[in-house]
Amino acid sequence: MTTYNLAALLEDSAAQYPDRTAIVLPRPDGQSTRLSYAEVDSFANMVANLLVSRGIRPGDKVALTCPNLPYFTVVYYGILKAGGTVVPLNVLLKGREVAYHLNDSDAKAYFCFEGTPELPMGQAGHEGFGQAEGCEHFFVITADLGAPSPIDETETMAQAMAGQPSTFDTVATDEDDTAVILYTSGTTGQPKGAELRHRNMRDNARSGEALFGASAADPDTYLCVLPLFHSFGQTVCQNGAFAYGGTVVMLPRFEAHAALQLMLKEGITFFAGVPTMYWGLLGALADDPDTDVTTLAENLRVAVAGGAALPIEVHKEFEKQFGVTILEGYGLSETSPVASFSRFGEPVRVGSIGTPIPGVEMKLIDPDWTDVEGADQVGEIAIKGHNVMKGYYDRPDATAEAIHDGWFRSGDLARRDEDGWYYIVDRSKDMIIRGGYNVYPREIEEVLMTHPDISLAAVIGVPDESHGEEIKAVVIRKPGATVTEDELVAWGKEQMAGYKYPRIVEFVDALPMTSTGKILKRELS
Ligand code: AMP
Repeated sequence: MTTYNLAALLEDSAAQYPDRTAIVLPRPDGQSTRLSYAEVDSFANMVANLLVSRGIRPGDKVALTCPNLPYFTVVYYGILKAGGTVVPLNVLLKGREVAYHLNDSDAKAYFCFEGTPELPMGQAGHEGFGQAEGCEHFFVITADLGAPSPIDETETMAQAMAGQPSTFDTVATDEDDTAVILYTSGTTGQPKGAELRHRNMRDNARSGEALFGASAADPDTYLCVLPLFHSFGQTVCQNGAFAYGGTVVMLPRFEAHAALQLMLKEGITFFAGVPTMYWGLLGALADDPDTDVTTLAENLRVAVAGGAALPIEVHKEFEKQFGVTILEGYGLSETSPVASFSRFGEPVRVGSIGTPIPGVEMKLIDPDWTDVEGADQVGEIAIKGHNVMKGYYDRPDATAEAIHDGWFRSGDLARRDEDGWYYIVDRSKDMIIRGGYNVYPREIEEVLMTHPDISLAAVIGVPDESHGEEIKAVVIRKPGATVTEDELVAWGKEQMAGYKYPRIVEFVDALPMTSTGKILKRELS
């Protein structure tokens, strides 16, 4: 047994740089709350003491619903210190869904933020708690620490923590114990909990040095707008920042104009986002051309994209406007998440997800797990290495289907060029079969987005009597654009092979998105 607790990411930085700023939260009055590493560590110790005092034992699951606020980090590390497993939940879940996750993960305790500026959460969380058998402790996180609980007969986290000691002897867990259970995004199927070990999460968080030159001697200032309940934000903007003593500037909810201003005000050196955020920042810059983009670009050292395919047009335009190279990464909740990444210091191949990160192997496989060899052949990505989860919590069948001999099958189709760089073709589930031909929506979306009137496109298959499926594009036009369905179909016909171009076009004002930036294609028809 090798003992290791993921809480060491915080504790080591707190020991080395106690006074360094760990977290910055802008306040509505224009000032900011700033917490040092020593302060974050002390608060996390109080949470750990609280949990132990309520009978939480090593290995117990503790769920957490909280937007990007310092409370998320403090509770996350407090649970780890107590030897518990953190179960972060999506802040948009409704009461019934919260109950599903609490029951499915066997959570013993639940921390729930009372509200976000836009969305009252308390009732939803409370309903969920009420329906979850076995979840004995419920703590309401209130934004105002002195405020009473908004829910009758429940404790606030602040009340519960009052008087708890600010020191704690962290439980020595095995590095193979489960640190975090991440519920997968659920764009398809029922949410399943991916069990990530302490070492899975540690090794991914510590890959920053190799992937983008992270250094504790010259720490980055991270803009943390990716939701922390999701693996991308959690590993890259929280654990990855703490691994190198960085400063995490939090925005509870992404709003492009606010993000731009914060980048300037706090001298952000590291930005990570999903494609919609890149798209949003470009829009905000267009709305406000007086933004001091020169200073912003001078500060910005690293920009990382992932979570969904970054449209090539958006990639190029962002690099042009912001004067920074975008490094694209790829991964899944099940792989902690980063599996591949652009090669830092080498020219980026736009549209590629890079090559496997150190200590991780990637290959392409057929549906029957046979290797797909050869340059530019399409196969499903399989991943093996320190980042691959233990399995799906309490679902041995799903785990056996997903992992063979250490290889995890991703459900993503890709091709590999002669130099070993990978290019996502599409999700295997999103592939359309029209008249016997395989059609990859992403390819068509990329073409549509080169049309001067189109700002965003999603392509889906719809049932069709003669072809089995027909190709339909759901499209957002640029402001003031007038292109019609007939014009776009005719244009597509010129650009693409006959079996690929969309015969049906629907114009919309917005596309349904998950809170982690993926277009919800199942909601389109
Ligand atoms: P999640 O488990 O929510 O992190 O979602 C993982 C999924 O996001 C993957 O299976 C991919 O379909 C998608 N994804 C992540 N990164 C990329 C990327 N760089 N390009 C295309 N798709 C991506």
